[in-house]
Amino acid sequence: MSHNYEKLFQPLDLGFTSIKNRVIMGSMHTGLEEEKGGYEKMAVFYGERAKGGVGLIVTGGVSPSISGWVSPFSIKLTSNHEARKHKRITDVVHKNEGKICMQILHSGRYGYHPFCVAPSKIKSPISKFTPRALSTSGVRRTVKSFVKCARLAHKAGYDGVEVMGSEGYLINEFLVTKTNKRTDEYGGSYENRMKFPLEIIKGIRKELGEEFIIIYRLSMLDLVDEGSTWAEIVTLAKEVQKAGANIINTGIGWHEARVPTIATSVPRGAFSWVTQRLMGEVSIPLITTNRINTPEKANSILEKGHADMISMARPFLADAYFMNKAKENISEEINTCIGCNQACLDHIFKQKTASCLVNPRACREIEFDTLKSVNRTTKKIVVVGAGPAGLAFSVEAAKLGHQVTLVDRSSEIGGQFNLAKKVAGKEEFHETLRYFQVMLDKYNVEVLLNTNVNVDLIKSLSPDEVVVSTGVIPRKLSIEGASLPSVISYYDLITKNIPVGKKVVIIGAGGIGFDVAEFLLHEPMDDSEEGINQFLADWGVDTQYKHGGALLEKTEKHAPKCEITLLQRKPGKLGANLGKTTGWIHRAGLKKSGVTMLAGLTYEKITEEGLWINQKGESKLIVCDNIIICAGQLPANKLKEELDNSGISNHIIGGARKAAELDAKAAIEEGTFLAYSI
Ligand code: NAP
Ligand code: SF4
Repeated sequence: MSHNYEKLFQPLDLGFTSIKNRVIMGSMHTGLEEEKGGYEKMAVFYGERAKGGVGLIVTGGVSPSISGWVSPFSIKLTSNHEARKHKRITDVVHKNEGKICMQILHSGRYGYHPFCVAPSKIKSPISKFTPRALSTSGVRRTVKSFVKCARLAHKAGYDGVEVMGSEGYLINEFLVTKTNKRTDEYGGSYENRMKFPLEIIKGIRKELGEEFIIIYRLSMLDLVDEGSTWAEIVTLAKEVQKAGANIINTGIGWHEARVPTIATSVPRGAFSWVTQRLMGEVSIPLITTNRINTPEKANSILEKGHADMISMARPFLADAYFMNKAKENISEEINTCIGCNQACLDHIFKQKTASCLVNPRACREIEFDTLKSVNRTTKKIVVVGAGPAGLAFSVEAAKLGHQVTLVDRSSEIGGQFNLAKKVAGKEEFHETLRYFQVMLDKYNVEVLLNTNVNVDLIKSLSPDEVVVSTGVIPRKLSIEGASLPSVISYYDLITKNIPVGKKVVIIGAGGIGFDVAEFLLHEPMDDSEEGINQFLADWGVDTQYKHGGALLEKTEKHAPKCEITLLQRKPGKLGANLGKTTGWIHRAGLKKSGVTMLAGLTYEKITEEGLWINQKGESKLIVCDNIIICAGQLPANKLKEELDNSGISNHIIGGARKAAELDAKAAIEEGTFLAYSI
């Protein structure tokens, strides 16, 4: 396949230095920062991304002081001793012909610790800590701490710094009246509120001279009430340029905003219009960002003139070699970030090191290299079941040199991913399947589809090892009426596209119950201009920017396609086990579509009229046309039993081993690790 990403590979000349292409790896906190041996791990992590061809890397946020910590003892740069540790990172990146800037992040009132500070003593809705208001001299000291931090970054060999001015962190808090009620020279008029970031940029420029990259991350869309107005943003951008910044990066949405900005259901490139609004207002390059995950999308955004550069962060967790693959015209080999957040942001919010659902190697490079270096003999391996676990195992084992045959009774690879890809907002799973297919071909995995597997077939293939990844079967209900035609399993509903009536009850509110509701209610993700505008309107984003923060006063209500009641037996919030950073989006999306959510009940029986439930000792009928069963899964492990009975040793992975709470992340991880241990 031939591609043309001409714009993407144009170098960017900054006068004193040049960036080899138009892509920066955006800042991401990975958790390696605080791990034992973290600097060595970060050196390998960033070094690999530099080797993979990205133009410029921006590190995860580094605090200029203790008060700026994201959480207790998180990474900071305040001493020569710390600078020497950073040197390991910059050395490896430079050895791999990359460039790297360190992000200076003062978390302000988002700091999850008792020493957090802010322009005013106003607690954020997403933290339990009330910040201390900085005194005027405290503000000046904070400016100095940024400058000192930049000086140490320079000493550590960084090519520049990114000053984090968005996402609702300290600098952003100074800019808006919502969080800045100060009466001194840093509060009141916009001119005063801008002083803090401008003094930081001027200070860094003065300290380090002209040949040091300063990127300023400017919040172009706060998505909170009383946020910056567009006129203020333009003024700030011009002043930031005057103060000495070389590049302006785009920040979208405060962390407390209630608009999805990076989840998989956000259309690709949904926010590049904001950067485009600023194009022409300043003469330094502008970077755009958020949900850009393919070279095609990135190149087309540049072609449309929406920005001078593209920032992608998570796509470099999913594939360190993204840029090289795009350059070599093998972009179909890119392992695409599906925007799930499951192994990256969700891990960070649970104080775990980030990785990637589609690439478990991410942030564990040293561990994987150690596993890889083990001497192994080539084996003939039969894998039964081409779901995520079986696919991950097959590809990884074949890469390690084994001769792999992958068998599935279905006519296509993918297992449960074939259901997920049909759910509105989960279309990115198509990309993972494309990637796996390309890898199966590349590493010569023999794939036998439409093939029912039994012990005789396996014997006939005479393998050295057998891997059972036969997945799961949907749990059936055993209550009275469960076999009525109105009762449908989620599997049949999605694979056979069975039509349903206007009133639907969903039994089970796990990931699949929520997916089924989205499948029935919502339209597929559409990244055309029209689709993006619809998404923005649905979530209350005002593209006309009538008010500060760019939120609409009222969102338009659509009549839902059907009336859904979603049920679970246990008491408490529905979807409590959904992703930490995405669960709220699923719940909010369904509420907008009028879904009724009920918890703390039992199921009594199903009749022609609907479902009888019992809540607090009272029987009630929920009148409906259809009942969809999403009551979890059971392991499909019959083959395993047959193999055991025939004395054929085997390895069992994925849902076939443990159906409860197994998800794609665990399945891919299990498959990958088994490949290294066989
Ligand atoms: P699940 O998350 O375990 O949810 C099963 C649901 O069925 C629960 O709401 C449970 O709640 C109910 N249930 C269990 N046994 C039942 C029974 N005998 N009768 C009636 N209800 C019963 O399983 P899933 O939804 O099938 O998802 C499978 C896996 O895929 C999970 O690990 C899930 O996290 C993952 N997944 C995640 C996402 C996502 O994060 N967006 C999407 C899809 C799938 P009660 O017992 O309280 O009724
Ligand atoms: Fe992307 Fe999901 Fe991987 Fe995070 S875990 S980098 S969102 S694919």
